[in-house]
Amino acid sequence: MVHLLDLEKYAKEENVPIMLPDGIEFLLDYIKQNNIKTILEIGTAIGYSSIRMALLSKDIKVTTIERDSKRYNEAIKNVSAFGLDDQISVIYSDAFEVELAEKYDLIFIDAAKSQYIKFFEKFKVNLKDSGAIISDNLAFHGLVENKENIELSRNVRGLVRKINEYVDFLKNNKEFTTTFYSIGDGIGVSIKND
Ligand code: SAH
Ligand code: MG
Repeated sequence: MVHLLDLEKYAKEENVPIMLPDGIEFLLDYIKQNNIKTILEIGTAIGYSSIRMALLSKDIKVTTIERDSKRYNEAIKNVSAFGLDDQISVIYSDAFEVELAEKYDLIFIDAAKSQYIKFFEKFKVNLKDSGAIISDNLAFHGLVENKENIELSRNVRGLVRKINEYVDFLKNNKEFTTTFYSIGDGIGVSIKND
């Protein structure tokens, strides 16, 4: 029998960036309160957030995309261990290679931070008019807000710049209105304008 705690332990040991506890609670509350049934997730990792979402209700369906083979294999193993094969479908691919016809109640973006604008632009057509796009890691471990930029590596500075660009993109978006929450690692909820 696999438990959520086993997944959390594995993520910690293997440095897999699964959602932080208060972030995941926020996401699960949002799903319950808004009666969300169909979810598209970009960035499965080992399946932790997909499993948490699917466990909320038998009639929730999650489609989730992961490009890393080791994590994908771990994810399908975990989904099966939780008996959730009928609720979660894991796609092994780079998200940019995936074409989906379905429209979802929720799109959850939790993948490569440098590409958030591209994920948003690509998958917004897969969102129902009443739906929401939720983005994780907008605070990027507090670094986005930190203007002092202590001794950050070039790579990290680059990611912080990318996240800032994404936040600006959301703030200036004419099609969507975004609310930002300082929960977990920073979460944005984007709703289509009428
Ligand atoms: N949502 C997960 C954590 C995802 S971590 C949870 O909370 O449990 C981010 C994952 O996105 C990584 O495993 C990474 O391999 C994957 N990823 C990054 N860019 C991607 C892309 N372009 N297509 C598919 N997966 C991607
Ligand atoms: Mg994340």
